[in-house]
Order: sequence, then C-alpha cells, then structure tokens
Amino acid sequence: MTAPHTGGCRCGAVRFEASAEPHHISYCHCGDCRRASGAPVSAFVGFMASQVAFTGKALKMYENGPVTRSFCGICGSPIAYVDERLENHIYFMLGAMDMPAYFRPTHHAHVREQLPFLHMPDDLPRHLKTSVPRPDWQRQNGTQ
Ligand SMILES: [Zn+2]
Ligand SMILES: [Zn+2]
Repeated sequence: MTAPHTGGCRCGAVRFEASAEPHHISYCHCGDCRRASGAPVSAFVGFMASQVAFTGKALKMYENGPVTRSFCGICGSPIAYVDERLENHIYFMLGAMDMPAYFRPTHHAHVREQLPFLHMPDDLPRHLKTSVPRPDWQRQNGTQ
C-alpha cells in the first residue's frame, strides 16, 4: 500500500488523509498516553503535518503544556497529538488509521512507565523515555 493513507474516528465525523508515508511508527507506554487513550499501551503513526489534511468540523483539542491532543467532539475517539517542540509533526493514534495493520511499529517508547503485567515479546528497540529527541524546549523558552 502507498500513500494516501486515510483514517478517522469511530463515528466518521472526523476524517483525515496523509499524502506521504509516515516517518515514525512506535508504541508509547507513557502514563499520559495511557490516560488519554484508556488503553494499557498506545501506538502512533507520525507524519509531517504539512502532508496531512482533515475534513469535518468535529475535531476538538486538549492542550497540556507543549502537547496538544485531538479527539472527535462527537464520539470521543482520540485522533492525534502534536508537540510544539516538534514543529510540523503530527502523530496519529495507530487505531485511528483505516488500515492499521499496515503500520507496524518499529520501537517502544517510555518503557520505564510500561505496566508490569504487559508483555510484548518482540525484538524492537526499547527507549526508557521518548523515542523522538526533543530540542531543549525549556531553555529555548527561557523558563528554566
Ligand atoms: Zn467521531
Ligand atoms: Zn506517550
């Protein structure tokens, strides 16, 4: 399968399309994703935001520090997150993609927060914290 890649929420009010291949596919074990998704582990498919288009008016945002998560305002499905430290990147919930089986994760992030009963016996690289280096955001914003 090649681009475009499409996806959307449970009820169909939010739809999106990416015109290029993803640059990043990973699991995230962090507690923040766990709260946001309700699931013991999340998985994300990262695209360049400039190569993604949304349709529909139901998308809602929840901003928490540098991270803004989006979800469907009608059915509540989590859709994506953006991080202002990672300009022009958007990370979609893998489960929001129409063809989720196409997007095989290549590593695990934030395994320090992985739930002790969750066992995923693959040989993928495991990062204790983030798998995507952020520039030093605090120093950049003069808030250290
Ligand atoms: Zn919806
Ligand atoms: Zn996370």
